[in-house]
Amino acid sequence: EGEPASVAIPRIKLVLLGDSGVGKSCLVLRYVRGQFDPSSKVTVGAAFMSHSVHLQDGTTVKFEIWDTAGQERYASLAPLYYRGASAATVVYDITNAESFQKAKHWVSELQKNASGAIVIILVGNKSDLTEQREVTTETGQEYAERNSMLFMETSAKTAANVAAIFEAVALKLAGNGG
Ligand code: GDP
Ligand code: MG
Repeated sequence: EGEPASVAIPRIKLVLLGDSGVGKSCLVLRYVRGQFDPSSKVTVGAAFMSHSVHLQDGTTVKFEIWDTAGQERYASLAPLYYRGASAATVVYDITNAESFQKAKHWVSELQKNASGAIVIILVGNKSDLTEQREVTTETGQEYAERNSMLFMETSAKTAANVAAIFEAVALKLAGNGG
């Protein structure tokens, strides 16, 4: 009788890290709103968005997404966002080898300072720009495997693999026991 027992929706705090311009904000916008705005504005400090999704396995989770600014002057703020996060998405731009080096620095920092339980996914974005590619899929894949991370190449522009980032993270966390 009465109201059905309400079941709390599991929440996943996820932080995006990576060099400025790699497409972090566009990935979030694509995922949360299904849009791509080529004239998107530079993120100042950090931006927050939450998004509840039904996953392929039928469960519902709520992502609490922290989109950080990639600029050097905000680097010292990053721990505020990745501490206590269950997942970190480290993004580079496949057309920019330097952004891949930056991504490696973020991975090292996470390995040193984040919770050992954090799920890290390495994301090579702008996969639509095949002509300008500087980082091969194998390079990203191998680095991710060596560091026990998930890996995905995405395009915020075409939406390729964008939802897959979040699906993979949720699946991995479910496998880890929440
Ligand atoms: P952020 O600094 O990492 O948040 O990067 P933004 O999301 O602001 O994107 C930086 C620039 O890259 C913008 O001009 C976007 O239009 C462009 N961009 C982002 N994602 C993609 C993508 O998947 N493909 C292409 N071609 N351009 C992208
Ligand atoms: Mg941004």
